[in-house]
Amino acid sequence: MMMKKLSLSLSPSHLETKCAFTLSLMRLMGFFVASLLLCSVIFSLSIVLRDPPSDAALPEPSSLTPLIQVTQTQKDLVNDASDSDELPKAKDKLLGGLLAAGFDENSCLSRYQSALYYKELSGKPSSYLISRLRKYEVQHKECGPYTESYNKTVEQLRSGQFTDSSTCKYVVWISLSGLGNRILTLASAFLYALLTNRVLLVDPGVDMVDLFCEPFPDTSWFLPADFPLNAQFNNFSQKSDQCYGKLLKNKSATNSTVSSFVYLHILHDYDDHDKLFFCDEEQHFLQKVPCLMMKSDNYFVPSLFLMPSFEQELNDLFPNKETVFHFLGRYLLHPTNSVWGLVNRYYQAYLAKVDERVGIQIRVFDTDPGPFQHVLDQILACTLKEKLLPGVNHQQDTINSSEIPKTKAVLMTSLNSGYFEKVRDMFWEYPTVTGEVVGVYQPSHEGYQQTQKQMHNQKAWAEMYLLSLTDVLVTSSWSTFGYVAQGLGGLKPWILYKPENRTAPDPPCRRAMSMEPCFHAPPFYDCKAKRGTDTGDLVPYVRHCEDMSWGLKLVDSYSYS
Ligand code: GDP
Repeated sequence: MMMKKLSLSLSPSHLETKCAFTLSLMRLMGFFVASLLLCSVIFSLSIVLRDPPSDAALPEPSSLTPLIQVTQTQKDLVNDASDSDELPKAKDKLLGGLLAAGFDENSCLSRYQSALYYKELSGKPSSYLISRLRKYEVQHKECGPYTESYNKTVEQLRSGQFTDSSTCKYVVWISLSGLGNRILTLASAFLYALLTNRVLLVDPGVDMVDLFCEPFPDTSWFLPADFPLNAQFNNFSQKSDQCYGKLLKNKSATNSTVSSFVYLHILHDYDDHDKLFFCDEEQHFLQKVPCLMMKSDNYFVPSLFLMPSFEQELNDLFPNKETVFHFLGRYLLHPTNSVWGLVNRYYQAYLAKVDERVGIQIRVFDTDPGPFQHVLDQILACTLKEKLLPGVNHQQDTINSSEIPKTKAVLMTSLNSGYFEKVRDMFWEYPTVTGEVVGVYQPSHEGYQQTQKQMHNQKAWAEMYLLSLTDVLVTSSWSTFGYVAQGLGGLKPWILYKPENRTAPDPPCRRAMSMEPCFHAPPFYDCKAKRGTDTGDLVPYVRHCEDMSWGLKLVDSYSYS
């Protein structure tokens, strides 16, 4: 009512003024609302563009299950990386096509999340390797457990009757030895399967399922519990009638007598007959056998590179020879979610936020568990000489500097906690000569190598993986544990020489020629000439190892040109 009265009392000039006033008020409000809208759009855009939803690297919202905290921190990792040039590469969750797309991410978080932790792959997988892996995946799906071909093969194994009708042939990897050895032999067996058109089936042993995800889509690499030869695995030895070396010795490995399976003994104690596995001529016979049962504790890949029949294929698969384990390992070996939890939590707690990560892997092959002073001396001498860690100043209590110090995290792994405690105390008690701050960490100290204990091997696997995530790596001679870390990480480590007579060697360590593992028990035989030869001297890309004079390892062309 008041309003009406008021408006009635207004003169035309007043009305004009009011209209003009109302109009400008409305314009002002419109402008205000538009500005508000624009601001909110700009704000939203700035958020979205600064932190784009990276479908390529981050799990979908549905996958943020129990690891939600961890995933969030990984997101931070990605954002941290956006400050550098590394972001696009770090987000390549399929590793340049090495990994197949389409896996359920939740079932194995490490498969696609590992790209967030690692630097880019060391080198680019060849397009031939990528296409060969995709072809293998199809083959595995067609031949894997309980497929028609698999069932036929199982039938033949049960009946002992061999008919050459099955399209699929298999190599069965039998689980034995320490985890580092197992990982290296798995990669070797897979490469052999690729080269011979076979499908790799993995004996789950007691803990393989707890440690590794399925690497091939829509199928399984694990041998089913009802595989007919399972009960014989423990008994397979050089004495077994089906052992290939024994068949050769008895001259019963002839083309006319092909059996449904052969046992391949490629362990460190294999004899000259077993070693003929690495001769082309003998491979002709093996080609026909439907099932090859393999026991190995060695990375036998270097000797495959000396076989003329595989030469071209290997050259196409790996133009850069030293990437074999790096690529195959990153393709095949994905920690299960429980192991990934161990890796994640440790990495985020101790390693993520420093300027540099240094890995030191200590493996002492001595009957006495230690710790030994000479090993500690050797570690310190190596890291100081090679400038991997700064020295400490025993004369000064503190260093007065206004600059924010650089931070280093040292990840030590060992069965023993003694070395870690000494190094940690040293960097706590004295300032470094460079002013850097050094934190020293060791995830576990299990005391001795244990078998059959689930958590023991999960920790071992997590520690190998954590070492592979460091920037600089020091490893122990002869240790496959260290080889796995260097190979997965694409790192050329500094190798601590093996101490003799409990004395620290001088020099204490040397840089590895390549990131490849060493084959500790290679054959020294010239298959063509049928006589002994130095197999480390036949081709420039297969050399004797730095840490074992009789071992063989692959090196890349730039290492010898
Ligand atoms: P290698 O003997 O050094 O060639 O390595 P392997 O991995 O084949 O066997 C050694 C085993 O001992 C490992 O698998 C672990 O079970 C255990 N082990 C040795 N060093 C360590 C270590 O630093 N940390 C843990 N958690 N376990 C270790």
